[in-house]
Amino acid sequence: MKFELLQLEEGRIRFLLSGVTAAFANGIRRACMSEVPVLAIDEISLYDNTSVLFDEQIGLRLGEVPIQAEDLDQYSMPEDCQCGGVGCPGCRVDFMLSAEGPCMVYSKDIQFTDPTVKSTFDKIPIVVLSEGEKLVIEGYATKHVGKEHSKWQAGTLCGYKNQLRIDIADSCNGCGMCVEVCPRNILAVEGSRAKATNTLECSQCKLCIDACEPGAIKVTPILDSFVVSIESSGCLPAKDLVAMASEEIKKRAEDLDAKLAELA
Ligand code: SF4
Ligand code: SF4
Ligand SMILES: [Zn+2]
Repeated sequence: MKFELLQLEEGRIRFLLSGVTAAFANGIRRACMSEVPVLAIDEISLYDNTSVLFDEQIGLRLGEVPIQAEDLDQYSMPEDCQCGGVGCPGCRVDFMLSAEGPCMVYSKDIQFTDPTVKSTFDKIPIVVLSEGEKLVIEGYATKHVGKEHSKWQAGTLCGYKNQLRIDIADSCNGCGMCVEVCPRNILAVEGSRAKATNTLECSQCKLCIDACEPGAIKVTPILDSFVVSIESSGCLPAKDLVAMASEEIKKRAEDLDAKLAELA
């Protein structure tokens, strides 16, 4: 397998994986979305809510706020915790949210008891409070995975596509029609011939094929090479998200290996 980093930002990573099957690339994508545990607000108690939103709407909004922890490993998933899932500081982070209008209540107003835990983004709007309206909430966040509920989904926009090879026939006369129609500036005329420049950005729209004689341009997927794009919800840096997803897959493969060894 070959790995080539194409783009790395805090919340997004894009890389080329070669020498793997589509199932493997898809496994990474799925693990990023559904198997990497993160924190999300799970239960709330509303002591006061005189805002225009129903209690349930406030609860839904809080559940979707991405939460960062300096050391996520210090929290267990409830079912793996020594408390047996009853709830304790090892598997829960309590929070308080108290506000009185006029104001906009933002995600930064959620105050966790663990100072190393916080909302990833400060300015996610929760609700507008008018003069005299109040919101007083207590609750807790727990750690879980995206397949349980989308609020624990660590990867949001995760996808992959085959790397493409673009072949241009020798009969090309350099007219430039394909260059004009390409929405991604993949093609250029150099000398008297068209040439593909950055095939990784090709969307396989095939507009260039339609612009020329039939068969003159061929856009072919490379079956064992994939451009993988992973976007984090904000709970984890994208690089860590992919590393943790890969670790999950590895752990399962090792479990399977151990089970098969028992049969031998
Ligand atoms: S449209 Fe066809 S002939 Fe014209 S530059 Fe593109 S490949 Fe060459
Ligand atoms: S398939 Fe679409 S994006 Fe790719 S080179 Fe042709 S026109 Fe450009
Ligand atoms: Zn516990």
